[in-house]
Amino acid sequence: MATWIDFRELRQKLHFADVLRHYNVQAKVKGDRAYGLCPLPRHPKRSDGRKRTPSLSVNLSRNIYNCFGCQNGGNAIEFVAKMEGLDPQNAEQFREAALKAAKIFGIELSGRKDNRKQKETIAQQTEPPAKKEPEAAATPAPLPVTVNAPLDFQLKHLDPTHPYLASRGFTPETIEHFGLGYCSKGMMQDRIAIPVHNSAGQLVGYAGRLVDDRKVSDERPKYLFPGPRERDGKRWEFHKSELLYNLHRIEKPAQDLIIVEGFASVWWLHQHGWSNAVALMGNSISAAQADSVLKALHADGRLWIFTDGDEAGERCAADIFQKVSPQRFVRWIQMIDCQPTDLTKTELAKHLLSQ
Ligand SMILES: [Zn+2]
Repeated sequence: MATWIDFRELRQKLHFADVLRHYNVQAKVKGDRAYGLCPLPRHPKRSDGRKRTPSLSVNLSRNIYNCFGCQNGGNAIEFVAKMEGLDPQNAEQFREAALKAAKIFGIELSGRKDNRKQKETIAQQTEPPAKKEPEAAATPAPLPVTVNAPLDFQLKHLDPTHPYLASRGFTPETIEHFGLGYCSKGMMQDRIAIPVHNSAGQLVGYAGRLVDDRKVSDERPKYLFPGPRERDGKRWEFHKSELLYNLHRIEKPAQDLIIVEGFASVWWLHQHGWSNAVALMGNSISAAQADSVLKALHADGRLWIFTDGDEAGERCAADIFQKVSPQRFVRWIQMIDCQPTDLTKTELAKHLLSQ
């Protein structure tokens, strides 16, 4: 029988400072925060030779972390899980990570070996125990997670007239259509806030595009997505891999659907008369996104892959093709060293109509 783990006790005894030391993270400590280079296996590798900047931020008193570079966050056990190549969302693997963490860090868990057995023992007693057992701290972990919940607020005071959008050629109509605007304060400071909706059209988060490319670093990614939040014993997470940007505006089932990597390609296509585009918000397609594409497309509809003309874009196109082509007609519009936003209306028409 599996050992019963008191996750709450483990969370309390597992100190993030020890975790960072164990994984050789050189962290700079300021108050109860530690900052360092992110060691997570899925953190994007730098290929342009630029110096990495610390993107990992740890709250030592709350024992939680966040990485702006790979959009990861969570508690110390989840961090250990990811470092050990385990998936903290998978209950079995999370357990395995917890046991591993207890072993690595020499944490003795006082929790009873088997909670259910304990309860049975109490039930069998004829007299109630003289001293009442303290309530078993059987907090199930991880915390219940709600993914992509509709927001109960909207960002106010966004400036749609910021020169960044105009400089990229977007018209006031396009900016208004997508609800874009420059944000001057808070988490989204110095960014264009981009409302992201679920397929039902509910606002589920904001992505933020840094307006000044020179300020992009590991710590300040070009695109910022909402990080995880914990409140009232619940955890809220934003998973862009389960959403397709602009999907709620597509009339379904669609005869033709264009799929692109980034937000700007959707805006650009809309502005030039192709409003039937959705974006992956990245350069990979998840099973959930492929499923959404299939649902949105008519059985004999066509999917136009319009990814960027670079290595990542080609890989992405191949992946989309593999996932969607068994069930729908798929066409890849291959770009070479450019992306959809580099094309004029005439060029777009040539690519989208001639094939
Ligand atoms: Zn990271």
